[in-house]
Amino acid sequence: SPTAPPVLSNGHFASIGAEGDAASYEHGVQVIDENKEFNPKLSKYLSLENVTSAGFNYHLISVFGSQSTGKSTLLNQLFGTEFSVMSELERRQTTKGIWLSKNKKQGEPGAAERMADNILVMDVEGTDGRERGEDQDFERKSALFALATSEVLIVNIWEHQVGLYQGANMGLLKTVFEVNLQLFLKDKHTTHRSLLFFVIRDFIGNTPLKNLQKTLLEDLSRLWDTISKPAGLEKSTIHDYFDFQFYGLPHKGYQPDQFVTEAKKLALRFRDGHRDPKRDALKGEFSEEGVFLPEYHRRIPADGFSHYAEGIWDQIVNNKDLDLPTQQELLAQFRCDEILREVMIGFDEAIVAFEDKQAESVRLGAPEVLGGLGVAMRAARVKTLKNFETEASRYHKGVYQRKSAELQGKVDTRLKALFHGQLSAAHKSGIRDFSDSVTAAVKDGQKKGGSYDFAEIVSKEAQSSLEKFEEVARSTLVDGASWSNYNQELSLYKKELAEVSARLRRDEMRRLATRVERWVQSRLGESVGLEFNSLGSGRAGGGAPENGEKPTEKDFWDRIWNLFEDTVLDAERRFTDRASSFDASIDEVDVGLWRLRRKSWGVLRAKIEEEMIEGNLLLKLRENFEDKFRYDEAGVPRIWRPTDDIEGIYTRARESTLTLIPLLSRFRLERTGGPPPLDRWIGHTPSTATSADEEDLAPIGGLEEEMTILSDTKRQELTVRFKKTADGVYVEAKRSAIGGMTQ
Ligand code: GDP
Ligand code: MG
Repeated sequence: SPTAPPVLSNGHFASIGAEGDAASYEHGVQVIDENKEFNPKLSKYLSLENVTSAGFNYHLISVFGSQSTGKSTLLNQLFGTEFSVMSELERRQTTKGIWLSKNKKQGEPGAAERMADNILVMDVEGTDGRERGEDQDFERKSALFALATSEVLIVNIWEHQVGLYQGANMGLLKTVFEVNLQLFLKDKHTTHRSLLFFVIRDFIGNTPLKNLQKTLLEDLSRLWDTISKPAGLEKSTIHDYFDFQFYGLPHKGYQPDQFVTEAKKLALRFRDGHRDPKRDALKGEFSEEGVFLPEYHRRIPADGFSHYAEGIWDQIVNNKDLDLPTQQELLAQFRCDEILREVMIGFDEAIVAFEDKQAESVRLGAPEVLGGLGVAMRAARVKTLKNFETEASRYHKGVYQRKSAELQGKVDTRLKALFHGQLSAAHKSGIRDFSDSVTAAVKDGQKKGGSYDFAEIVSKEAQSSLEKFEEVARSTLVDGASWSNYNQELSLYKKELAEVSARLRRDEMRRLATRVERWVQSRLGESVGLEFNSLGSGRAGGGAPENGEKPTEKDFWDRIWNLFEDTVLDAERRFTDRASSFDASIDEVDVGLWRLRRKSWGVLRAKIEEEMIEGNLLLKLRENFEDKFRYDEAGVPRIWRPTDDIEGIYTRARESTLTLIPLLSRFRLERTGGPPPLDRWIGHTPSTATSADEEDLAPIGGLEEEMTILSDTKRQELTVRFKKTADGVYVEAKRSAIGGMTQ
């Protein structure tokens, strides 16, 4: 008979292989073993059974009752599970600890005869308070564990035990009630309820189920009254925490067919249901509706269940107060962290390559605008936050919100860095490209004959550069991120474009200045050279003066200065025209003109020095002398005769030429009798001239020094050498006169 004392045995258990394949779990998974150890493989089992991703769409049922009352047999019948059942031959206790298995009779989706999704059934080691007093501890702990996790508690009871108020079952139920109150100590305003589902075994039917039900409810109420209730809960009734249902099952051995039929009917009650007023009025009457009411659900997301169960068991086994809200918060922290790490893996996959590439390009000093960055960032942000929300929002709201903010912080910190890196690369490469394009366009213009519009080149390139920058910036924006704007970067970019434009304009000014200086050099070289050459003729200056007056040697320097002034004035005009065409500022033009004058003076001074090299000068003096000595007033060459006043002519010509030496020694204007007004002519150094503007200019000495062309020593040397040359010419003339006579 089933009441025969159970025999302890080695039972037979599914081995839980390290491999964790489905076959290792044919009997389900042993959540708590006989040593009260929690089995961490629960999580693996739930994944193998595809429960992990179910969210809240799963259900937990536990079964309670004395040993060997056919609990495992019942579960196997209802749910197609394979919990170990006591063999008729051996009669040994089989189920040890707590086992869990998924319902195998769920049925096809949409089928009429279909049970709720993902029912998880826990088979709890049976107890027999009278026989196993030493293990009341486990009974209490397992009851607590079952209540903290399960929606429905099946209480398995023989019909003939109904009304035996002192029976073993009553001990168990007392424990259930007590731990239930303990459970909600910390959560007194809970709306949480559980369903106690009494399955009356070996139900014969002589006593109607209704009557059995009435007896049981009366017994339970009496039991409830006897337990001591924590402060604040003294007035609570059993119905504040529990709903009741009852079902009678015929004897499996004597009425096997009826047993199977009834078990099938019973199984179909395990569907989703909802509370309606009619049901409340039933007070334990059997409802046709499904047993799983939303308020029974522990609201632990399936992916957090095993961690939650482990935490709960840890509290229970260490005799700590079980504080479900705290446990749920701890679970939320754990799972939210885990989910955060998981979604960050996906984020990393999308983003790390960009981060590496950006860092590398910065390291190489060649910041690169990364193609496709904006799209990738936007997609990664949305996906990461969305995935987190989907998984984590099922957990404790406060924790979820905090972790969600943390995740967003992490994501945004990295995206923001990428965004700014991109803007910085766009900035650097944009500025460089701008400068390069302007330079290339100028070079191109120079190649094509030099007529290019610098201002237009700059404004066109600046515009296009700005557009490119904005395009990169816009395409890298990330909707919803607080940092996603580029106003500041854009204004910095504009500022640097203006600075670089100014620098390029200064370069262009330099190029222009160089061109104009070269022009001055070649013009002065020619015209000043002509003036010096004219010295050789002994009679005339270079160009005929406008008033028709014969140019004289005396106003040689006046002519040079006039040439110089006219040439530079002309150059200044060219410079100003061109510079104003590219929007150079008045200050910039002023500096340019001042530099031009300084440089032009250097050019003139160099040209004069070239002409005044001793050999050149001696040649000029000799030509000048010979012109005066060998030609008469009309410019006709003289044929010397012995009667000619050779000596007189010689002396006059020599003295006339000798006057050139002091004349040439100093740059002095005939019209003022002083040096040219060089300082006034060059003007003050403009206040806006920088040291860079001055550094390549030759220094200008004092006016005296600057206007001294030949030193006194040089002058004397030159006089001596010229005289010798003149003497030579004289002797030759004298000889030719005598020679002419003898012929
Ligand atoms: P558990 O210890 O409560 O899980 O009980 P088991 O399911 O292992 O069954 C214990 C014994 O009761 C086994 O020998 C079963 O054959 C027997 N048994 C199973 N169902 C019934 C039933 O409906 N009525 C009776 N009288 N015995 C049953
Ligand atoms: Mg069992």
